[in-house]
Amino acid sequence: MDCSSLSEIHEECGVFAAFGVGNAARAACIALQHLQHRGQQGCGIAAYGPDGKIRLHKEPGLVRNVFTDSILKELPGDSCIGHVRYPTTDVGGRENIQPFRMSDAKGEFAVAHNGNLVNSDELKSLLESEGQLMVSTSDSELLGHLIGRHHGQGGREAGILSATLLLDGAYCAVVLTPEALYAFRDPYGFHPLSLGALGDSYVVASETCAFRGIGARFLRDIAPGEILRIDREGLHSSRFAQETKDRSCAMEFIYFARPDSVIDGQSVYSFRKKTGHLLWREHPVEADLVTAVPESGYAAALGYSEASGIPYEMGLLKNMYVARTFIQPAQHMRDLGVRMKLSPMEGVIAGKRIVVIDDSIVRGTTSRKIVTLLRDAGAKEVHLAIASPPYSCPCFYGIDTGTRDQLIAARLSVEEIRRFIGADSLHYLSRQALSEAAGGRGLCAACFDGDYPTDLYGHLQEPDKNL
Ligand code: AMP
Ligand code: SF4
Repeated sequence: MDCSSLSEIHEECGVFAAFGVGNAARAACIALQHLQHRGQQGCGIAAYGPDGKIRLHKEPGLVRNVFTDSILKELPGDSCIGHVRYPTTDVGGRENIQPFRMSDAKGEFAVAHNGNLVNSDELKSLLESEGQLMVSTSDSELLGHLIGRHHGQGGREAGILSATLLLDGAYCAVVLTPEALYAFRDPYGFHPLSLGALGDSYVVASETCAFRGIGARFLRDIAPGEILRIDREGLHSSRFAQETKDRSCAMEFIYFARPDSVIDGQSVYSFRKKTGHLLWREHPVEADLVTAVPESGYAAALGYSEASGIPYEMGLLKNMYVARTFIQPAQHMRDLGVRMKLSPMEGVIAGKRIVVIDDSIVRGTTSRKIVTLLRDAGAKEVHLAIASPPYSCPCFYGIDTGTRDQLIAARLSVEEIRRFIGADSLHYLSRQALSEAAGGRGLCAACFDGDYPTDLYGHLQEPDKNL
């Protein structure tokens, strides 16, 4: 699809849930720190206490700062759901921090999700036409109201199942009720959701890296279109969607997920290393050393070095105490962020022909700064190789990369981008190689090829005349 008429992007997140785990909120607090790369703007935990009440604490900030010992003491109970949320420039408000605690005549429940519904405007209109008030713009609140909308037989589970029939897009959701924990993943399987075991109990997390941190074992991925019910009797699995399609988000593998996670049976690290091998096959550059943009370029750079025989060197050092550049919504702060965050290793770089590998170019700001840093440190040549194809279409499934007009590859050709960032040469991985790195699995790669797996509802807009 030509995506020139599309704009708008939403948030990305991480979820965790535990059922029957002693001190569940404490386990969530650790697990959420292992998912912190998925969202740094806000976090929350809703726990089901021994008195039958669901208690919720959520605030802007990092998990380690928000969940102090005294806050965790206020969240007793052996079942909980937790969430970390990424900032967006448009919907950064406190009211959107998850989980959401809802209640109706049937009692309380809490809900959190990762992803983005493509039909949220339609669902919101439906609820509003029925007199429903909303306090946020979060899809999780929407989901909560859709669950509560079911007044027939079958209790909460029937409400959840009837809600899933209305949802379209990307969602990995967890719902905590007094009787059970539910976890379900959209029929496309855009974002990861995994099941683990902690002793005899079950835990659920957006990424498998969260399990190790709490001493849990990875059991399996939750399948696209599958809903799990975890209760005192154990685990029950069923399908809520007859038709499913494997469309794992390519950006999870390329950039977003932690390299020590395994998604749908594939190691994120191996995927990235493979993209490095393929980059060399497609773009063999003559150079003295290979280096990476920390940290997302590491694995692909190792792959490029391995395949080419060109030594890998640490050319850029990352200051761990400055957060990701995307955390600051304003462009001028991002510009400053790159310089605060990365230092060139002059002794390694000076006089050398360098291939620098990064996972992706989104706005182009980072690459431009990095090329300048390397040149200022004395590099003789700077070649940039990107372990993904040109990112030219917006995402509607929960990965926040800004609006279409901010995507440099939507506006400029590869040669124009090269000139903008000032590299001696610029190379992207091909779309075919991306599939090869994924071992032929079904991918969503719509931000690279415009092939959106779902209907886009109201997101099709008039092309922006200023582009
Ligand atoms: P830029 O081209 O300056 O916008 O930034 C590109 C850098 O942002 C790359 O090095 C990626 O590692 C990183 N990146 C890619 N996608 C995202 C995303 N969705 N959110 C935050 N950072 C990203
Ligand atoms: Fe992931 Fe891109 Fe698909 Fe969004 S459009 S789900 S970022 S691959």
